Amino acid sequence: MNKLNSYDNYIDFLNIVDDALAEVNNDNFAIIIFKLNDIHDINTSYNYNIGNKLYHRAYEWLNDNTRDGDIVHPLTIDKFVLLLKDIKNTGHLKLAANKLIQFSSEYYSIDESVIFSQVTLGIFLTTIKKISSIRILQNAEISLELADKNKTSYEITYEIDEKSEKNEIKSFALKSNLETALENNEFYLTYQPKVNANTGTPVGLEALIRWNNPQLGLVPPDLFIPYLEESRKINLVTDFVLNTALRKQIDLSNHNFQLPISVNFSAISLQQPMIDKIINKAIAIWGNNPSNLALEVTETALMDNTKETISILNNIKENGITISIDDFGTGYSSLSYFKNIPADEVKIDKSFIQNIIHDRADYDVVKTIICLAHDFGHSVVAEGVENIETWNILKTLNCDVIQGYYFSKPLIYEDLLKWLARHNLDSCASA
Ligand code: C2E
Ligand code: CA
Repeated sequence: MNKLNSYDNYIDFLNIVDDALAEVNNDNFAIIIFKLNDIHDINTSYNYNIGNKLYHRAYEWLNDNTRDGDIVHPLTIDKFVLLLKDIKNTGHLKLAANKLIQFSSEYYSIDESVIFSQVTLGIFLTTIKKISSIRILQNAEISLELADKNKTSYEITYEIDEKSEKNEIKSFALKSNLETALENNEFYLTYQPKVNANTGTPVGLEALIRWNNPQLGLVPPDLFIPYLEESRKINLVTDFVLNTALRKQIDLSNHNFQLPISVNFSAISLQQPMIDKIINKAIAIWGNNPSNLALEVTETALMDNTKETISILNNIKENGITISIDDFGTGYSSLSYFKNIPADEVKIDKSFIQNIIHDRADYDVVKTIICLAHDFGHSVVAEGVENIETWNILKTLNCDVIQGYYFSKPLIYEDLLKWLARHNLDSCASA
């Protein structure tokens, strides 16, 4: 029943779904991943034979407890995938789900042992013909992850409904879309100028990623970056951001705008094997001066894995690349922290900057960070500057560089060129 290679099972099932898509017209159907939660424990506490027999027992049980025309298919050593056709509505589907989880209410006598396994279901309900079989199965897996996370017996996700504002569905929809998004060029970069705190003249740029998805619209990075990190797809995106940013930095030089560019690096991307070599290679391809690239790494990412991360940062810094500690202040680092981090720049988080005019405590924090960072020879950037009053205070505190909506929002490349043409030579005193 079960093939040796679970990938073959997966491909077989995709073919079955494709056949079903071709056959049926306007019905809803559901894909259910049925997971035996305890198979691994049974295999180790008893033996593989018992685990395998329970798997076969579950296969029979599922066939007995589904309707004619429904399909039960083995997927991996602890999972089956089911295709239930002609689902009338969600109530109907919940009835089916509740029936399936009854498997765990029974004990099974196998080779004189009494065996029991909890089950979890990941369910995806959709209208036939609108979505590929791969996506259908991915969505069912996403529901399964959600059920595991929520410790529920099952979770159902639905075909993406554009009107639905339910974040949960949206988030998981996002997750399932990411791979194709890269292939379809849905990602692009915006560039936010950084200016000299005294003169207002541009001194650098931060590259910030944007995702324009045809179904979901413009999705903010705060929403999708965590999913990229969780699924480890962030490295593909970092690679895209790094290369695009370096290429644009050279383009700008050709327009006589010599500005270093900063790229946000998540901790996962930083810990890729040979990351220093990957970065050097990208720089060599585009022909940048390494000092025109800065990596922004969040304070919290640095704190998670300090020793290893410091050694990686040292390797990168040795090549002349600037290291910037992003969102500084949010991670409550101790002051001694500065001693060990091979940073050149500290970016104070905008949550401190935005209240600096009215909040004495935030003012004191910012003042302390600036003094301390200077003591360690680091340059200080304040982000989130939205008005001239904030800028003026930061000037009095000897902040080096400013970034914020007061000067410019993140701009697409064409608008950046226009902005730089207006601001490069003049002071931004009346930004
Ligand atoms: P971040 O690195 O702290 O970036 C600064 C964020 O503050 C950006 O939001 C920027 O648009 C916003 N911002 C700048 N000036 C102001 C201001 O004056 N007021 C306010 N309210 N906001 C301002 P954005 O572009 O939405 O990015 C959010 C976060 O997503 C970034 O925070 C960064 O952590 C992450 N991110 C963006 N692009 C990338 C990327 O290419 N890779 C990685 N790993 N993360 C990225
Ligand atoms: Ca940043």
